[in-house]
Amino acid sequence: MGNRGMEDLIPLINKLQDAFSSIGQSCNLDLPQIAVVGGQSAGKSSVLENFVGRDFLPRGSGIVTRRPLILQLVNNKAEYAEFLHCKGKKFVDFDEVRAEIEAETDRITGSNKGISPIPINLRIYSPHVLNLTLIDLPGMTKVAVGDQPIDIEHQIRDMLLQFITKESCLILAVTPANTDLANSDALKIAKEVDPQGLRTIGVITKLDLMDEGTDAKEILENKLLPLRRGYIGVVNRSQKDIDGKKDIRVALAAERKFFLSHPAYRHMAERMGTPHLQKLLNQQLTNHIRDTLPGLRSKLQSQLLSLEKEVEEYKNFRPDDPTRKTKALLQMVQQFGVDFEKRIEGSGDQVDTNELSGGAKINRIFHERFPFELVKIVFDEKELRREISHAIKNVHGVRTGLFTPDLAFEAIVKKQILKLKEPSLKCVDLVVSELTALVMKCAVKLNSYPRLREETERIVTTHVREREGKTKDQVLLLIDIELSYINTNHEDFIGFANAQQRNTAANKKRPMPNQVIRKGWLTINISIMKGGSKEYWFVLTAESLSWYKDEELYLSTWGSNIWYKEAFIALMGKV
Ligand code: GDP
Ligand code: MG
Repeated sequence: MGNRGMEDLIPLINKLQDAFSSIGQSCNLDLPQIAVVGGQSAGKSSVLENFVGRDFLPRGSGIVTRRPLILQLVNNKAEYAEFLHCKGKKFVDFDEVRAEIEAETDRITGSNKGISPIPINLRIYSPHVLNLTLIDLPGMTKVAVGDQPIDIEHQIRDMLLQFITKESCLILAVTPANTDLANSDALKIAKEVDPQGLRTIGVITKLDLMDEGTDAKEILENKLLPLRRGYIGVVNRSQKDIDGKKDIRVALAAERKFFLSHPAYRHMAERMGTPHLQKLLNQQLTNHIRDTLPGLRSKLQSQLLSLEKEVEEYKNFRPDDPTRKTKALLQMVQQFGVDFEKRIEGSGDQVDTNELSGGAKINRIFHERFPFELVKIVFDEKELRREISHAIKNVHGVRTGLFTPDLAFEAIVKKQILKLKEPSLKCVDLVVSELTALVMKCAVKLNSYPRLREETERIVTTHVREREGKTKDQVLLLIDIELSYINTNHEDFIGFANAQQRNTAANKKRPMPNQVIRKGWLTINISIMKGGSKEYWFVLTAESLSWYKDEELYLSTWGSNIWYKEAFIALMGKV
């Protein structure tokens, strides 16, 4: 039969089917399966019952099959049935099976003959069946009866499409021979989703009911509406046979006799009838599973991978697995790093509107606290004047000087520069304490692992402390550099002559605005560190002046001719 060694494929897919049914509809894996479609009373139920050799499906007028029935036939010595929804209970009486299908259908759909896509899973073990799984679907109908919804036709159509649209689904299209084949509901809907007829298997029922003189030879020979998998004709029991409780086995014998004796079908009798259909379906399903298995496998694997990835994000998941735990811990530490950086560098996502982030606080220290600390440096004007006077006198010594000596200027200025050390170090302290607070904040996410949190905090804080010492050394060194040499040749240094020139210009116009003052605090701060000229220091003082006092006052003082000695004193006095 060409499928030796693959007998286990159908039971394997059955297991998957059960697993997916129990986790609900959400699973989007398409299992290879055969769906039975056809118009109402086409003979779908009859075909299935013939496979089993038992009457077990609900019958009646209207829509009897109102939920998909996943029928798993399993070749087995003992004969019984089992439902997935009441697992473990063995049904040996097939009337009970029918009653259970009816009850279970009503349980979901209510008794108003509505339909539901939630399947009923029925497994039948029997020595008469070949391993085969089929899905019995509601028959297509045109009119709603009783209190059925008016759009029942569309509802059923949608449900059928849900199953047969999937490429993995073989379509068993059941058509009664006594109707116009070209108008077959089953073939029509199958053609919609399988236009080339690659996965549709045609079943022609009711061959015995055809008008005398007509036959279905053409279609059964696959000439009329060709399908790659062909057509198979069957003869089921008539309503009269069913009412008379005609045994299925007797019916099967009658079916065989029908094909053997009919002139139109005699030549292909071996390829007709229920037993052949069953064999063919078993073979085709097995081949179909074999063909779709590699794809199914890779799909399952990729789903498994994405699930595993998801699982890893649950940090407490499976704490017994050592590698998973290490990965999770590593991920948390990395996350800590990312959080820390984001809080300093700022980030677009999750902007906090309630409080300042670490980075913003550090910015405030640089641009508000530090300048404030600078202007807070107290100058005792009297004391300063006295010091300047002493410095000048001491530089002149015994002589009476004509000009203010540079040396005196330098001595006084350097003394003022020295005062920058304290606020600069304080600035470093403030930033460090802000960083430490930030470390604590970011470590909150590690709370579920107290030792990891402790260790992370310890390591990062130690590192910050270490850098703190180095930073302070560096800041002090920079100030020392500034102290060691005052560059009066620097382009920003105005000097006495220029100051006088500016003053003459200022007499005509408004005093020239000073460029340096516009550079802002950070620039000036950096300039001090880079440069080495006294005007920087001056600017610094001037800016602290303008920060709180009147800029115009500063500018006019700057532009005045008392630049060297008097301007200095005047500026100092204003701070
Ligand atoms: P379903 O609605 O498609 O499930 O159709 P059923 O299997 O319930 O069959 C509907 C009616 O058609 C029943 O009365 C069957 O006895 C009858 N029937 C089905 N197949 C055949 C057949 O091949 N020959 C005859 N004479 N009657 C059939
Ligand atoms: Mg039916």
